[in-house]
Amino acid sequence: MARTFVTRPALPPLQEYLEYLKQIWESGIITNNGPFHQQFENELAYYLGVKYLSLFTNGTLALVTALQALKITGEVITTPYSFVATTHSLWWNNIKPVFVDIEPDYFNINPANIESAITPLTTAIMPVHVYGNPCNVDAIQKIASNYGLKVIYDAAHAFGVSLKNESVLNYGDLSVMSFHATKTFNTIEGGAIISHNEETKKRIDFLKNFGFQDETTVVAPGINAKMNELQAAYGLLQLKYVDGYISKRKEIVEIYRKELFGIPGIRVLYDIPCVIHCYPYFPVIIDPNVFGYSRDFLYDKFRDENIFVRRYFYPLISQFPTYKSLPSASSKNLPVATFISERILCLPLYPELSHEVVYSIIEIIKGLSK
Ligand SMILES: *Cc1c(COP(=O)(O)O)cnc(C)c1O
Repeated sequence: MARTFVTRPALPPLQEYLEYLKQIWESGIITNNGPFHQQFENELAYYLGVKYLSLFTNGTLALVTALQALKITGEVITTPYSFVATTHSLWWNNIKPVFVDIEPDYFNINPANIESAITPLTTAIMPVHVYGNPCNVDAIQKIASNYGLKVIYDAAHAFGVSLKNESVLNYGDLSVMSFHATKTFNTIEGGAIISHNEETKKRIDFLKNFGFQDETTVVAPGINAKMNELQAAYGLLQLKYVDGYISKRKEIVEIYRKELFGIPGIRVLYDIPCVIHCYPYFPVIIDPNVFGYSRDFLYDKFRDENIFVRRYFYPLISQFPTYKSLPSASSKNLPVATFISERILCLPLYPELSHEVVYSIIEIIKGLSK
């Protein structure tokens, strides 16, 4: 079979992008809050149903800056079941990550484990809406309010996700997005912070531009994390097409769900009532005792067939050398995350993936099933 990867970025039509590039070449404005940046920021905020949005050149710098914006220090409670950048952003701010376990249904941070991890040094919680499924935002907010903690959501997977008709990005103090090539919505590289008042947005905008308030005033030790005009123009085009990308993803997800239903030892995730999803990944959980083969056997089997599935998220972040000696990193503290991490496999999912290939991926699983 032709090589199939777990994802492949959706690109806007080249001809339309060339039109935007022409305008950029004519104006000579290629970065620093140019016209496309301003237009994209406004249109994206409108699309997402949020009020205050700041564009970034990538999601990781947005995470690092979000922590700076709220002056987070000390310890932050977070999840080990995520992409490594979540915890790296804490490390870059000299903050000690404290890992707590996830819940078994959707693999988000388990609010029941948060309280016992709070110490006098805790200042914030950084949960992740893993695979775009919303965290238990109400329970998390309740704990945060009780203990005076900030909440910064890593919403890198949650493009356009809403909960009871409200954008999931409107929960917590800040939400951070990624528009990396592998995400549901991409600007090649890119990201954003969603804040909830003008003052915070302003501070974030200073921070991503070296701390400059005006030509001669530097109000904070900022960084350079600006999105450039080529990314912003590309993003404007992507916004026109993203609903189509999401519905094509959904069609594929529905085929997987239907065909994999009832295969012993294979578990898939379903949509949550009252949630609008963006279908960034298609994770399956393999129970080796029931399926008859381990996750890694299936992973290798797919490789042999030229299908490059991925184990998101294995290893857990808490297993990487930087973090594994932290007391909270022990697998005894993280039984559910450890269990899921050893059994998870993400199948290919992207708008252009042909249904024919989807069915052949399913056939490989069915062929192994006893
Ligand atoms: C992709 C991702 C990031 C990092 O975003 P970049 O734009 O690649 O820097 C952070 N957190 C999670 C959960 C991600 O999936």
